[in-house]
Amino acid sequence: MGDNQPYFRFNPGAYEDGRSFERSSDVCEVCSRPCVWKYTGGVYAMESPVVCARCIANGELGKFLGDEHFSLHDIEISGAEPRLEKEVLQRTPGVACYNPFEWPVLDAKPLAFVGYGEDQGLLDIEAVRSAIDAAFEEIGRRFDGPAPYALVFKEIEGERYRVVIDLN
Ligand SMILES: [Zn+2]
Repeated sequence: MGDNQPYFRFNPGAYEDGRSFERSSDVCEVCSRPCVWKYTGGVYAMESPVVCARCIANGELGKFLGDEHFSLHDIEISGAEPRLEKEVLQRTPGVACYNPFEWPVLDAKPLAFVGYGEDQGLLDIEAVRSAIDAAFEEIGRRFDGPAPYALVFKEIEGERYRVVIDLN
């Protein structure tokens, strides 16, 4: 971790497997320093600058864009405390998806994206499998094996899981 690799509590695996960042010495257009970790996800705004992990975490990207409604996600989020909603939308690297989806919220707190339904470590957790079953049931399907398009979310300060099915 460290200054160049800030932790994102709503997307703690953002640096894994090239999910949201890649190692790069390209210069960040926001802070004018080498990125170290360059953001590879979407920026939903008028412009989409080269941006580093630092400038996403500390909110400098928002100031640079001058757009108080920009987003790093193609999602809907409702029922969350406004400051937490803003942290998810603007200071959390986006989760790649085929379709816009509803980011899970429980007790006014957004959940954290923790991985995909093909991750054996997650599938070994009973609560994760239950959440996957429930999500498939909701769309009238059955879960019958690893599901890379199942997005798994977990409470930050709790053990409840929710799953979003993102079929292409
Ligand atoms: Zn930067």
